[in-house]
Amino acid sequence: MTNQAVATIFLWPSETHSEAIHRSTAMEQANPARSMAKEGDVWQMLKLFSPSGDGVMAHSSLGLWLDSRVPPTGWKCHAIKDAGDEGVVCGMCQSATVRFTHLMTHPQVPEVLSVGAPCAERMEDDYYTALKRERVFRDDIRIIRGWPQRQWKQSQLGNHYVNARGFNITIWNKGGAGFGITIKLQNKFDRKFELNGKKLFKTVEEAKGEALTALLYARRRLREGLI
Ligand SMILES: [Zn+2]
Repeated sequence: MTNQAVATIFLWPSETHSEAIHRSTAMEQANPARSMAKEGDVWQMLKLFSPSGDGVMAHSSLGLWLDSRVPPTGWKCHAIKDAGDEGVVCGMCQSATVRFTHLMTHPQVPEVLSVGAPCAERMEDDYYTALKRERVFRDDIRIIRGWPQRQWKQSQLGNHYVNARGFNITIWNKGGAGFGITIKLQNKFDRKFELNGKKLFKTVEEAKGEALTALLYARRRLREGLI
């Protein structure tokens, strides 16, 4: 991993474009160059901009909630973004400052609204998903930030592997053709979930970097009950 945003998004088998975009957005947002350097700072900021609005102005029923042209429900979230240290004002209530914005769309509204979780809940008419989505996004960011420091091991066959978040990721040397990635649920040998990335990488280091996207994708599949 470098400090550059990921320019190319590889699709994993049966991954949709929007899933790949979500993954890529999380990686881009976690880019340490654009945000806080230390993990402690991150959690301090998360506390400051907590979804309930602790310490800052809370979400309200003002702003676009009062605008009769803006539908109050029927919205869908497409992605989450990290607005950085300063945060941004919630696009719906225009009251609270939020760090993580949920990008919401509605078939009758041409704009994408960036809003905080409490407003997203109301717009989606779902009081569970928005916070869960935000927790997952923060957790993905933690994984991404810690990835370069992760210690890889070598199997008896000489393959590099790492166990992370309940998954086992192995880099295979395809005999001169390059290095491939396999990810499976850790300690499960029934091949119930085993994913082989089709892309081959020139170096083992390159494959290790890309293994991160395999992990984020597999976590998503697991969450959605697809594993
Ligand atoms: Zn709001």
